[in-house]
Amino acid sequence: MPGASGVKELKEVNHNPSPCKRIREEFGVKEKKEMLIYLNGKLVQEEDAKISVFDHGLLYGDGIFEGIRIYNGKIFKLDEHIERLYNSAKAIMLEVPLNFYDMKNATIQTVRANELQDGYIRLIVTRGVGDLGLNPLKCKVPTLIIIANKVALYPESLYEKGLDVITASTRRNLSESVNPAIKSLNYLNNILAKIEANNSGFPEALLLNQEGFVSECTGENIFAVKNRMVMTPPVSAGVLDGITRNAIKELCSRLKLEFREINLTRYDIFNADEAFLSGTAAEIVPVVSLDRRIIGSGKPGEITKSIGREFRLLTHTDGVPVYE
Ligand code: PMP
Repeated sequence: MPGASGVKELKEVNHNPSPCKRIREEFGVKEKKEMLIYLNGKLVQEEDAKISVFDHGLLYGDGIFEGIRIYNGKIFKLDEHIERLYNSAKAIMLEVPLNFYDMKNATIQTVRANELQDGYIRLIVTRGVGDLGLNPLKCKVPTLIIIANKVALYPESLYEKGLDVITASTRRNLSESVNPAIKSLNYLNNILAKIEANNSGFPEALLLNQEGFVSECTGENIFAVKNRMVMTPPVSAGVLDGITRNAIKELCSRLKLEFREINLTRYDIFNADEAFLSGTAAEIVPVVSLDRRIIGSGKPGEITKSIGREFRLLTHTDGVPVYE
């Protein structure tokens, strides 16, 4: 039976020839209709995955999340994502209801129960149910949600043609406010920038920080390549410590490319040989213009392409196996 946390020991499951069905049985799920969602220790049908309107995740965006990819039956950088979840939780003084090990198990089990080979996982921890006031002390039990879904792929043209990006007038949050390193449920700042891009007919927006340096795009880190040097703003410039960004750092050393975390201005991006974005969902996306200035040849660059190829290789070889 699942313990108090609702989490089953994985080793028991490993011996079972039908781990997907077995996990569902252990959680008391009679049939899998559409998607099964982990909600506070239980696996429930999508239609039953409901939370209170008094949950502070909804009322105030008080909570944190992670987005993780499953490639070929393996969860990519699972430990890194869970670690970042705990770091975000610590920064907002939120106690995650499971320990690291149980969180990892619960994530794997949710993927298994849904029989996914390739997909996208969303981990969400909210402050929980409180009253209409914002005081988090009124929220006694955090809400934990794990959604494991099929992955919605971006159109191929995005990778072939590259993105045209516009700089938003909305600035990245100050690190002294909601630090951009916290992957919080409050994405309104990024959404405002996305609205600006939409209004101008651009697919993506770049946010600058208060000093006017480049930070990141609405849901991706940004990179400029100049003379075979791959550059990205440091976390102190107000960016999420992206897990894809860190994977790129590793790949650059494999590809014998110099990698530097350095403050960048729009000028540096305009005059780069190449530029690209990175993120769990989008992976590696070439950027071909910023504010109507063509970057390099105006086509996805060779270094961007080779990093993209290496990254794809990594996603298919690395990762925590779900079904072993
Ligand atoms: N910046 C922001 C604001 C994001 O939401 C994301 C997506 N998580 C990223 C960067 C990229 O981070 P990662 O590579 O960990 O997905």
